[in-house]
Amino acid sequence: MNTQVRVRFAPSPTGHLHIGGVRTALFNWLFARNQGGVFILRIEDTDRSRSTEEFIAAIIEGLRWLELDWDEGPYRQTERLALYQEHAHKLLEAGKAYYCYCSPEELEQRRQEAIKRGESPRYDRRCRERKDIPAGITPAIRLKAPLEGETTYHDLVYGPITFANAQLDDLIILRSDGTPTYNFCVVVDDVTMRISHVIRGDDHINNTPRQILIYQALEYPLPQFAHVPIILGPDKSRLSKRHGATSILAYRDMGYLPEAMINYLVRLGWSHGDQEIFSREELIKYFSLEQIHKSAAIFNPEKLLWLNSHYIKTIDESRLIALVRPFLEREGIVSPGQEIEETFLRRVVASLRERAKTLVELAQFSRFYFGQEVSYEEKAARKFLRPEVKPLLQRLITALKAAPDFSEASIEQAFQQVITAEGVKLGKVAQPARVALTGGTVSPSIYEIISIIGRERVLHRLQKAIDYIESTENT
Ligand code: GLU
Repeated sequence: MNTQVRVRFAPSPTGHLHIGGVRTALFNWLFARNQGGVFILRIEDTDRSRSTEEFIAAIIEGLRWLELDWDEGPYRQTERLALYQEHAHKLLEAGKAYYCYCSPEELEQRRQEAIKRGESPRYDRRCRERKDIPAGITPAIRLKAPLEGETTYHDLVYGPITFANAQLDDLIILRSDGTPTYNFCVVVDDVTMRISHVIRGDDHINNTPRQILIYQALEYPLPQFAHVPIILGPDKSRLSKRHGATSILAYRDMGYLPEAMINYLVRLGWSHGDQEIFSREELIKYFSLEQIHKSAAIFNPEKLLWLNSHYIKTIDESRLIALVRPFLEREGIVSPGQEIEETFLRRVVASLRERAKTLVELAQFSRFYFGQEVSYEEKAARKFLRPEVKPLLQRLITALKAAPDFSEASIEQAFQQVITAEGVKLGKVAQPARVALTGGTVSPSIYEIISIIGRERVLHRLQKAIDYIESTENT
């Protein structure tokens, strides 16, 4: 008996890796890791007209990004055609499948006639017992499905599911051109890969009876089936592009962390008490198929954003730095490969992680830390870089020049000297200084940013602000 847990993620590379697919991959992966089992990646690319290498690459890239590592594969169905053909012929020899000589045109005509008569347009099984073999026709192979009785299987999420065999067709397993059909490939693969649990989206629930008949014909024991409920958009319709990005790599590019995506997706249809935040280790420890919900999950972008900011605040600093780096390049804040002083970058990231919800935001917020000068937001400049602040900024320059060091404490002292000498409140100096140094009115603490930007560039930018005020005075 096969006791080891063996599961698979079997995407069809006919589109970008959808977050619903990632959730399926994640549940399979977690189940395998929880059970000490094997996680297999299988690319279901038999539909050659719609499968592309680019989509296959995107699937692999997405899984790697999320660190959902596989133990076997990626297998590709297009490399396994001989195996499907061999199994189809085995069924023929055992009398469990038969040749069908009906041409597509004939089938279509009979379908239309059945519809007209108000019958369900199933194959009429004409070739099932056919004795007159027409010459010159390459036949397809059909499964000889049972004509009566019921089949029941126990879905680990939905419970017992029963279907009447008579409702099912004698489905084609091998087309006349020798290519296998979808359900047949899935079963042959699951059987030969010794899959113990089929965990997949509930859009496949309708395929399961058909697949079970194939298992039975092949005389293989059934795996366990767990169908995972669909993901809906906030308006309760099936999650699609209308609701925003659905491709996993789009989320990576919008600055979401793998940690946040994993934590968010796992809660779409699975829970462990009312816990919301899970480390990967906890997920592996707690995951079980029993806790998968029956009801559809609703995609909530705000919650995803909330989790993202949680992870930006809390992950290891070195990891955050490594994650931000490509975004600094992408935003044109540093040039590709540019060396950035390690301590400086640490301080930059530490100062912004509390307020950035995505890595894109973090990179954008950090712009003022880089380069020699900043450009002013128009409104901020108009409001704060006014003639009356010139003496304040001049005094600030003097005080900062004289500061014994550029620690936050020394910078605070310099500000104290200015406000005491000028008899103004801190905001009167700090806000214009903030605009002078960052270009805008919102930033981390003024002492912190001054300390990070460093004496030389701070003095330069304050002087630039004075020049700017003078230039507007003259116009
Ligand atoms: N290839 C199918 C899909 O992408 C999954 C088949 C399965 O998991 O059985 O939806």
